[in-house]
Amino acid sequence: MKELESLHFDPAAVPTPCYIVDEARLRRNLELLQMVQQRSGAKILLAQKAFSMYRTYPMIRKYLAGSTASGLYEAKLAREEMGGEVHIYSPAYKPEEFDEILRISDHIVFNSCAQWKRYRDQVQACSRKISCGLRINPEYAETETDLYNPCFTGSRLGTTLANLEEDALEGLDGLHFHTMCEQNSDTLERTLRVVEEKFGKYLSRMQWVNFGGGHHITRPDYDVELLIRLCQDFAEKYHVQVYLEPGEAVALHAGYLVTQVLDFVHNGLDIAIVDASAACHMPDVLEMPYRPEILGAGQPGELAYTYRLGAPTCLAGDVIGDYSFAAPLQIGDRLVFCDMAIYSMVKNNTFNGMPLPAILLAHADGRVETVRQFGYADFKMRL
Ligand SMILES: *Cc1c(COP(=O)(O)O)cnc(C)c1O
Repeated sequence: MKELESLHFDPAAVPTPCYIVDEARLRRNLELLQMVQQRSGAKILLAQKAFSMYRTYPMIRKYLAGSTASGLYEAKLAREEMGGEVHIYSPAYKPEEFDEILRISDHIVFNSCAQWKRYRDQVQACSRKISCGLRINPEYAETETDLYNPCFTGSRLGTTLANLEEDALEGLDGLHFHTMCEQNSDTLERTLRVVEEKFGKYLSRMQWVNFGGGHHITRPDYDVELLIRLCQDFAEKYHVQVYLEPGEAVALHAGYLVTQVLDFVHNGLDIAIVDASAACHMPDVLEMPYRPEILGAGQPGELAYTYRLGAPTCLAGDVIGDYSFAAPLQIGDRLVFCDMAIYSMVKNNTFNGMPLPAILLAHADGRVETVRQFGYADFKMRL
């Protein structure tokens, strides 16, 4: 059973559905990441793709060196709301967007030698100092799901050793790899061995190496000491600045999604319909797939009353999971899904005309701030 944790908000007092981020939990993650930066010498960036709730950026900026973007819009958001270093990586840049990218980015990472050659003159003609790098594909990843494996056969992400044109490295300051997903530092250690084996001769000509994201640093069983040692050793050996750009680890277990029970159906088992949707509000539940935890709920059959939780959408598979509760659910009951800060509000959608969840921030002092609420206009305006 998922133990009830001490919440900095009252689930009965918030609108549903809503995402609610817990400031104290976010800060705890940031403090750990700051300690890693200080001891390892690595700089840590927020990968905004996982978490872009910019209301919290001023706080994040106090702890991290900056952020990284998957494209122009995230880079603009970073420049406007976070400051610090703005890094960008995209598998391919659009000519129409590149001037603006040049105005706001500090590091630009290219996916291929061809992309770098296409934009090199523009970068070098720019009056701001921009540091450029190449994403490499070491063709080594320990991720089992292809959806999340940048090294699967036929991947478009990064340049393999065979495709690396040595003369194209002229003018590049850094190398970038991103091959991990929710992994511990032992995976990084094995990955670094492959990177060194394959790309070792290029590393010492670089000023920086970016180890990407997927480092689950703030998970309780994460081996932080090994990460620190790996970063230190690598920086020393090649005389480079090491960067890490975790997304998940920044806001891991720092947010919730609160929903309420709308109705019940019985069809071979008890089914509760709630006002949240896996497809719309927590798409990773279906994509990954995984079963999110609910505070105070157990595995099916673990507690006395088991229900399947489904959304008020027409998608048959819009089922969040099966859960058990100590008491029968009642209409209006609030359910609190855990670990919903990451890859949730950045991925949501209004399929079926579903309302977007409000975004709230629970401050450490108990004050609950409504950051944003959505309505019909937000649905209509995108269509
Ligand atoms: C997704 C991604 C990240 C962040 O990954 P997390 O698993 O959220 O830590 C960082 N860098 C790149 C290039 C990514 O694609």
